[in-house]
Amino acid sequence: MKILVPVKRVVDFNVKIRVKPDGSGIDLANVKMSMNPFDEIAVEEAVRIKEKGGASEVVVVSIGPAKSQETLRTALAIGADRAILVETADTPVEPLAVAKILKAIVEAEKPDLVILGKQAIDDDCNQTGQMLSGLLGWPQGTFASKLELTDGAAVVTREVDGGLETVRLKMPAVVSTDLRLNEPRYPSLPNIMKAKKKPLDTKKPEDFGVDIAPRLNVQKISEPASRKAGVRVGSVAELVQKLKTEAGVL
Ligand code: AMP
Repeated sequence: MKILVPVKRVVDFNVKIRVKPDGSGIDLANVKMSMNPFDEIAVEEAVRIKEKGGASEVVVVSIGPAKSQETLRTALAIGADRAILVETADTPVEPLAVAKILKAIVEAEKPDLVILGKQAIDDDCNQTGQMLSGLLGWPQGTFASKLELTDGAAVVTREVDGGLETVRLKMPAVVSTDLRLNEPRYPSLPNIMKAKKKPLDTKKPEDFGVDIAPRLNVQKISEPASRKAGVRVGSVAELVQKLKTEAGVL
């Protein structure tokens, strides 16, 4: 049993991002980049399955600039066995193009399970897993907070608006991770050293016959309007009064 885990290099979640003055995008100069947090959870889950004897190989893949190698090395230090970098220019690749490349990699690697993040925290698209599952015609279990593998099936507990939903997917399948699935480990120093020697294969989108030219046209990126400070009311009567006279909502 083989598990494929796509991982994306994104702006670190601690960084307060800045919009470029011309509104054309986010300023990435000298900004700390890290593995997308949901993808760390995906790598951790795949490695835990392997450590319990449920998988023989964990392959990680990233589509992005050469620096995504660092992200892949982090995944290898957590415990993945092998990495594939699909190298692109330093411009964003849209989820549909990512899903098409992942489909080609799935066809070549033949994993039984793809575990990816529910969303990348840079563009918050929440699309790639669903698109990949659609392109492959595989079942999907999105927003997993628990994953159990039994008799060729993946049992996924999903976080949905009304609570928890459990679905049973016949493998091969696509699973996307939610925050509560696990708490990723910090890679140990010996494992960071070992990760440097693990195989990392570099490819180009053309190797998979995928055209990654953007299909979307970004008109403008701007900061959200800053919110006005709230007021503390002394009583329910005062609240109702303000809602009637000031907010005009009653
Ligand atoms: P998104 O649909 O962009 O919110 O991303 C959802 C998930 O798809 C991420 O958490 C990653 O697991 C995967 N993914 C998205 N973009 C890439 C990429 N460029 N390289 C590898 N994996 C990606």
